[in-house]
Amino acid sequence: MTQSPGRFEGLTTFLTHYMEMENAEHAHITPIYQNSVFAFKDTDSGAEIAAGSGPGYYYTRLNNPNHDQLAGKLAVLEAWDLLKQNPDQEPEQLVGGSVFASGMAAVTSAILACVGMGDTILTQSALYDGTYLFLKNFAPRYGINVVWVTENTTEGWAAAFDAHPDAKLAYIETPVNPTLRLTDIANVAKLAKKYGARVAVDNTFATPYCQRPLTLGADIVVHSTTKYLSGHGQVIGGAVLTTDLELLKGEIYQNRKLLGATPSPIDTWMTNIGLKTFELRMERHCRNALRVAKRLESHPGVNRVYYPGLTSHPDHKLARVQMMDFGGMIAFDLKGGVDAGKRMMDRVRVASLAVSLGNLDTLIQHPASMTHRNTPKDLRLAAGISDGLVRLSVGIEDPTDLVRDLFKAIG
Ligand code: PLP
Repeated sequence: MTQSPGRFEGLTTFLTHYMEMENAEHAHITPIYQNSVFAFKDTDSGAEIAAGSGPGYYYTRLNNPNHDQLAGKLAVLEAWDLLKQNPDQEPEQLVGGSVFASGMAAVTSAILACVGMGDTILTQSALYDGTYLFLKNFAPRYGINVVWVTENTTEGWAAAFDAHPDAKLAYIETPVNPTLRLTDIANVAKLAKKYGARVAVDNTFATPYCQRPLTLGADIVVHSTTKYLSGHGQVIGGAVLTTDLELLKGEIYQNRKLLGATPSPIDTWMTNIGLKTFELRMERHCRNALRVAKRLESHPGVNRVYYPGLTSHPDHKLARVQMMDFGGMIAFDLKGGVDAGKRMMDRVRVASLAVSLGNLDTLIQHPASMTHRNTPKDLRLAAGISDGLVRLSVGIEDPTDLVRDLFKAIG
């Protein structure tokens, strides 16, 4: 039952039914195609599949039915509004996707699809650490010029485009770690259009439940599907979704194939199953996060809470314009610095001490005593990570249990 969203009212109807029962055996859930290679019916059909001119599969590094189901589902999810606005168009005419072995494979493949030697990327200075290191250390080795837009405002981006009118790509991530500050996607997309550049957005934190960059004018969305999209902390994966179908069939497909950044069939199958409850999970993540954020704001041991849904967040106005809900990620600054952070980590019982995010259970981490313990303090502070900063991925547990656990742990 391959249906375009124009024919479904709701996300969950689409997410539970998309491309199920299309297999020859009528298995109710698409089976796991855990095979490396596909046999050809005869030499002619094999030659057509190899040339990409006939239907069928060839070799799992190139493609697999489990990849197609997940990529198609994620593409429609990101283009949900665009497809609703164009009910006569089939999804494949408007949007497409490719799935990857990790979020980093998706990020790097998308960037390398847009730029080559001598080209310029404009990007914000706060980014997910892996992406930051790729742009800082890796991309320049291959002649790619990276310009950091340190003033992440309308004026800052306008000045960056003015100074680099030949930039090929604007790469943004919003909301961003650790302060959950936002970048105005529509503004960057408008500028990029004027200068003939593409815009790629890492939508991992917000997810298409809260924010749809393609609707706001971006060309490419990248994801770590490891997080909310698979949702159960059981898979590492990534995805690139785009309205630029030529780029998808060309460079993005080639990068995945030649860099070998393809996911395993079972991982894509598990992500597909996780997506069936995506809308329900996100509804609860967002509701819990707002409640926890508001309660933390009232705690005397907390200096400051960072959550785009709070009126105290510096980008709350923009959040109300470009986000449909505010997500499940919160950061907060404890008054007692490193010691208070360590004490809290040792006392939590419901939340787990772990990096990553987007699992259905709550994850907590204190960068100064955990992930950034060996980072020089001045560098850590420059990255916005204060001594008492705690990052919380709010799960779907009962919010009363969550608040009680956090309050008891803060003391
Ligand atoms: N983008 C963001 C915003 C992330 O938080 C992460 C991982 O934490 C990644 C990309 C990389 O994803 P993965 O770990 O699946 O490679």
